[in-house]
Amino acid sequence: MDLIHHEALVIGGGLAGLRCALALLEAGRDVALLTKVHPLRSHSVAAQGGINAALGNSPDGTDDTPERHAEDTVKGADYLADQDAVMAMCTEAPAAVYELEHRGTVFSRFEDGRIAQRPFGGAGFPRTCYAADRTGHNLLHTLYEWAIARGLRVYEEFFVTALAVADGRVTGCVALDIARDVMGGFAAPAVVLATGGYGRLFTRSTNALINTGDGAALALGAGCPLEDMEFVQFHPTTLAGSNILISEAARGEGGILLNKAGERFMARYAEKAMELAPRDIVARAIQTEVNEGRGFEGGHVHLDLTALGASRINERLPGIRRLALDFAGVDPVAKPLPVQPGQHYSMGGVPTDADGATPVPGLYACGEAACVSVHGANRLGGNSLLDTLVFGRRTGARLGPGLPELPAPDEAAVADLLRRETERITALAVREKGTKVAPLRAELRRLMFDHFGVFRDGAKMAQGLELLAGVEARAGEVAVGTAGGPFNHTLIHALELEFLLAIAPAVARGALAREESRGAHARRDFPKRDDDRFLKHTFAFRRDKVELEYREVNLGRFPVRERSY
Ligand SMILES: Cc1cc2nc3c(=O)[nH]c(=O)nc-3n(C[C@H](O)[C@H](O)[C@H](O)COP(=O)(O)OP(=O)(O)OC[C@H]3O[C@@H](n4cnc5c(N)ncnc54)[C@H](O)[C@@H]3O)c2cc1C
Repeated sequence: MDLIHHEALVIGGGLAGLRCALALLEAGRDVALLTKVHPLRSHSVAAQGGINAALGNSPDGTDDTPERHAEDTVKGADYLADQDAVMAMCTEAPAAVYELEHRGTVFSRFEDGRIAQRPFGGAGFPRTCYAADRTGHNLLHTLYEWAIARGLRVYEEFFVTALAVADGRVTGCVALDIARDVMGGFAAPAVVLATGGYGRLFTRSTNALINTGDGAALALGAGCPLEDMEFVQFHPTTLAGSNILISEAARGEGGILLNKAGERFMARYAEKAMELAPRDIVARAIQTEVNEGRGFEGGHVHLDLTALGASRINERLPGIRRLALDFAGVDPVAKPLPVQPGQHYSMGGVPTDADGATPVPGLYACGEAACVSVHGANRLGGNSLLDTLVFGRRTGARLGPGLPELPAPDEAAVADLLRRETERITALAVREKGTKVAPLRAELRRLMFDHFGVFRDGAKMAQGLELLAGVEARAGEVAVGTAGGPFNHTLIHALELEFLLAIAPAVARGALAREESRGAHARRDFPKRDDDRFLKHTFAFRRDKVELEYREVNLGRFPVRERSY
């Protein structure tokens, strides 16, 4: 089989992958992008509430600066973020927003015509720029059109199954062409992972079905450790039952949270910030109300937007109104919405420096797949879209000029991997008898949510690890039984299950070993933050089993303090 050659491969067609590929094109490089779905179906398209930048456009925000943005981000992260990377992101934020505006993103406006900015959780100023509540949709379409205009080569519906490694260097990848049902080998001196998060490791997730941590698993397979995987964000307000996201923008615009008694309970948990405390705090507050019997039957509280009125809801939150009507049968203009916490964002991922380089030569990462780390133990709303644009661009800009000097790819290694992967996947596809994929995947997601969810404790997590071992054992006998043919989704789901299972132990062991509470990692048995032992990043290595090591956090100008809101 012939191999396909490019100077660089970007895996992922969301905001991070597209922005990185554009920077590589700008540097004059021959780059190709591989994505398992059409780029516009990437999860980035679902982003609702907005993107942060200290533009100072709001009348209440004129004193805002990148430094204040950085300070809020570091505090929101419970001090686990690397402060040099945070400064880089917040300093470049205004340029990133204006660039997308000039390329065609239709941001919502203030009366005077400047880009509108709304308040978001954990932010000292109204800093979140938005396009109604469809910000991701707008940004992704802008980047995709730009990429098409520049003639970016896109391999659409190509599912990457493994990275090729030779002498410790990543040298290409192997992918299944889903529509034609053939495997292909790609040789390149550099591979960028922009594959998004691992939200679908958990049940009750706001994430797209495709967010299965493929990039993290691919990196582990190539000998790269994973960073801070135990830090998983649970968003406070997802629609009860379907767990579709109700953006933080709903609270930013003035929505309030009420328990069964009609009490505005956030006063007990974050006296000053109330509903606009960071997500980890609000999610735990809601869960505590439910656990202590003050929630509604079915385990939810109310998000009340009725005071906003129809015209404001229609102008600023039209998507939320539509989602609430379609999926909960409730019109937020007239009635409160039933909400509960749900998995939302992966703080952990493939470790990189502030220019996308990972510890493995030839391997780079950006976007939600990466852990730079700018979000530390808890990401602030509006900072992830920013992360994708800033670090996507930086990764491409740093990699581009140096590409011709990188060693040529090892074609034999790619060809050998292609042969092995074709055999392995064909064997999986034809196996008729065995465990079914869908129920096993559901069981895994439920156990991760139940044992490694909003609140954690040692005994429950240890039990979770045993259950996980059981799922792992049965995963070896998975049967697809539908060999051949294009769009074999059962096969794709089986491969995604393998990826989820490759990273689950890093999440679980990282969480059990971290004997403290910090950001989104809340342990009942260790309720306090322990800076002496754990002001450190977790690095999970795949050796015989998952092994953990700890690395220093890059502290800086913002001193580590008690976190209160
Ligand atoms: C409902 C929702 C609302 C959100 N709202 C906001 C918001 O308002 N503000 C904010 O800052 N953040 C928000 N976020 C978070 C933010 O949208 C994401 O973190 C961000 O868009 C991730 O972008 P990405 O480019 O890293 O990955 P994604 O957009 O997830 O793209 C991943 C890409 O990788 C490809 N891929 C994955 N695995 C493979 C494989 N094996 N082979 C080939 N291709 C592969 C996929 O096809 C896809 O193209 C929201 C998230 C959700 C779920």
